[in-house]
Amino acid sequence: MTPRPPVVLTFSGLDPTGGAGIQADITSQSLVNSHCCPVITSYTTQDTHNVYAVQPISGNIIEESARCLVRDIRPQAIKIGLLGSVDATRVVATLIRDIRIDCPNLPVIFDPVLAAGGGTNLSSDQLLDEIREQLLPLCTLITPNTYEACRLANIDNNPQAAAEQLTTQSLSVLLTGTHDTSTERVHNRLFSHASETEWHWPRLDGEFHGSGCTLASLIAGLMAHGMPLAEAVEQAQSRTMDCLAASYPIGQGQRIPQRL
Ligand code: PLP
Repeated sequence: MTPRPPVVLTFSGLDPTGGAGIQADITSQSLVNSHCCPVITSYTTQDTHNVYAVQPISGNIIEESARCLVRDIRPQAIKIGLLGSVDATRVVATLIRDIRIDCPNLPVIFDPVLAAGGGTNLSSDQLLDEIREQLLPLCTLITPNTYEACRLANIDNNPQAAAEQLTTQSLSVLLTGTHDTSTERVHNRLFSHASETEWHWPRLDGEFHGSGCTLASLIAGLMAHGMPLAEAVEQAQSRTMDCLAASYPIGQGQRIPQRL
């Protein structure tokens, strides 16, 4: 009999280009032999240039779908991407608290999607407050880019200070450097309460749709197998680079990572 792959309960938005959001999560997690259980938090209108609208799914629907799943299926990790509303954030936080009663060490990986690659703001101040107060204390790892780290920490133009402020005994921060074009190479740093680790990756030509989702979902998929956080972060970066190096265009904007 085929062994059961570990399950990643995944809260994410639907991106109809298939580059980011839930499709990125499903394909990235499959790449590392994990099974994605997708719960959609929002429906987006976008092309390969930008996001134009986000239509949140009601908190009741998110809660019903997720509670139905976890009555039957025990996840080995949780991955969160675009939340899209205060309601969704509250529901996801409550669910994690409930699941953790039986599984206190369940890894929770959150890619805080606060803005689209094309620049559209995807989070209100109220949503940010909810994320800070309800969700961050429950996360194992967050994967903000430099802009997202500064917004989450409420610190202007100092991503290092922002990441340090966000890091706690239980929360690690992978600060990604793709958006910081002042450096020749992409500088990613993992902050945990005990250490700081850094990587430098070649800066590839072009822009990519769903690179952050790919990275965070690969980490979640690997941690669902029981891989330690630092090792999963290292492997996931390397596999994301492979997906980006083999990316393909489907429109006139950002390229789609090759994850299949
Ligand atoms: N999730 C959804 C649903 C999106 O539409 C987007 C794109 O803007 C993202 C996540 C983030 O994509 P990226 O990984 O390119 O930051």
